[in-house]
Amino acid sequence: MLRGPQNLPERVLAVRERMAQAAARAGRNAQSVTLLAVTKAQPAEVVRAAADCGLEHFGESYLQEALEKLDALQDRALTWHFVGRIQANKTRAIAERFAWVHAVDRLKVAARLSAQRPHHAPPLNVCLEVRLADEAAKGGIAAGELPALARAVAVLPRLRLRGLMCVPPEETQRERQHAWFRELRRLFEALNAGGAALDTLSMGMSGDFEAAIEEGATMVRVGTALFGPRPP
Ligand SMILES: *Cc1c(COP(=O)(O)O)cnc(C)c1O
Repeated sequence: MLRGPQNLPERVLAVRERMAQAAARAGRNAQSVTLLAVTKAQPAEVVRAAADCGLEHFGESYLQEALEKLDALQDRALTWHFVGRIQANKTRAIAERFAWVHAVDRLKVAARLSAQRPHHAPPLNVCLEVRLADEAAKGGIAAGELPALARAVAVLPRLRLRGLMCVPPEETQRERQHAWFRELRRLFEALNAGGAALDTLSMGMSGDFEAAIEEGATMVRVGTALFGPRPP
């Protein structure tokens, strides 16, 4: 029996349609936003069904669980993103198996990912996670420390610094959602004004991806809206 939603094709279409409408509201091309399907807690067969719906980018948060799915889906040409928090002693498998890492927030982790990225692979794409609110439990670097971290990561040889990522506080009010994403975009533009050449704003999840797109997200990380509530 297929676990996960039976109406996955319709759900994918509905999310894509909402993304396109948000892009249109902001005068943006819908093609400028990538849908990253976050499949943590979903079994490999659900990932396979999502790939059959045309999804190509998949995000995972827990390394052990992710590696099992990567193995089970080796026959598919999927692009895997590690979106979870990174323990410094677990960087090797991430460097070897993923194409993107979204939540880099320490130079130590970045340096290990660079050193451990296999030489036959293209550089590992990385985003720096910024902690916008004062939420001690969340990862991310403080905005004030971002420029120094960005400069240090940019010169690591086996990484390609692509952009910024955030997981802001959950907000039900649209205007408050916008304010967080606008802040990440401001930081992104400030780095680019300083010569950083970043092209990726990884922001927006099921509850707020439309606001994120209206504020310039180039990648939205969507789980629940595609796959339904995660099993506890
Ligand atoms: C789980 C997760 C998501 C997806 O969250 P949903 O609300 O289910 O869309 C996105 N980004 C990160 C970093 C996550 O851990």
